[in-house]
Amino acid sequence: MVEKSTAQAIEQAAAVIADADALLVCAGAGMSIDSGLPGFRGAGGLWTMSTKDGEKSVPVVDVAQPKWFYYRPEMVWGFYGWRLNMYRQAVPHSGYRQLLEWGRGKSHGVFVFTSNVDGLFQRAGFGEQEVVECHGSIHYLQCTKPCHHELWDAASVDLVIDESTRNAREPLPRCSKCRRRARPNILMFDDMAFIRKRVKEQRQRFDLWLRQVAGKNLVVIEVGAGVSIPRVRELTTDIFNHLDCHLIRINPTDIVDKMETRNTWITVNIGAATAQDRYLPIALGAREALDRIQAEISLRNSLR
Ligand SMILES: [Zn+2]
Repeated sequence: MVEKSTAQAIEQAAAVIADADALLVCAGAGMSIDSGLPGFRGAGGLWTMSTKDGEKSVPVVDVAQPKWFYYRPEMVWGFYGWRLNMYRQAVPHSGYRQLLEWGRGKSHGVFVFTSNVDGLFQRAGFGEQEVVECHGSIHYLQCTKPCHHELWDAASVDLVIDESTRNAREPLPRCSKCRRRARPNILMFDDMAFIRKRVKEQRQRFDLWLRQVAGKNLVVIEVGAGVSIPRVRELTTDIFNHLDCHLIRINPTDIVDKMETRNTWITVNIGAATAQDRYLPIALGAREALDRIQAEISLRNSLR
C-alpha cells in the first residue's frame, strides 16, 4: 500500500467532500472527546473511573449494568445522572457545525451513525430524522422491567449528585405506569431489557437513505470510532467494502489497528488500487482534522 501523508489525505478529503452527492458521518467517542467529554477505554476514559458503594470503591464498568437499578438505584443513577448533567452542559465543537454545513449542501443530504449517547449531533443542529444512535441516548428513559415499550424524554429529570458519596439523591425517575425505577435508554453491559424501538426506527430511516444513495457519489467520514467495541467501524468497513464510496477515517491512534489485522470482517479491503484511492486515513483528533479539511475547502473555494 502506498502511504498517504496526512496533508495529502486532507487535501483529497476536501476534494471528495466538495464533489459528494451524500455524506455519511460515522462517529465514536473520539468525536465527543474534543467537546471536553471523557472517552471510554483510554486514559481518563469512563471505564477507567470508579464510583462508591458506601465506603467501597467500585469500577464504573461494573456499575453500568441494568441490575443495579433494582439493587442500588442511587449508586447507578449517580453514574448516569452525572453523565446526563455533563452531556447537557457540553457544547458541540466546531467539527459538528462543519459536518452539518457540508452535509446540508449535498443533493442527498447527510446521515449520522453514532455510538455516542450524548445527543451532541442533535444539539449541533442535525435533525432527529438524520441520526442513528446505535447504543441509545441518555436523553430518553425507559422502564427497568420494562412493563411497556414506550420511551419518554429525560428533559424533566433533574438529579442532584452527592459529591462525597457520588450517589444520586431521591427522587429518582420512575416508570409512570408501574412505578418501578426508570433508566436511561442506553445499551448497558449484560443488558436484556434495553428497548430497541427507537434505534430500530432510526435504523429503518437510515437503511432507506442508504438505498437512495446507492450508486451516487457517497463519502463516508468516520470520526473517532474505537476498536474495543467496533460497532461503528464494522459499519463503515462494510459500507466501504461493498459500495463504491470514499472513506475518510479520522483517528489519532487507530488508523491501522490490531483488530484490523486479526479480524477480517472489519478490515478495509484496500487491496485494489481503486480502493486505495478511495481510502483516506487522517491520523488526527476529530476537531483538528475537521478544521483542517474545512480550511482546505475554503482555500479551494477562494482559488476558484
Ligand atoms: Zn414500568
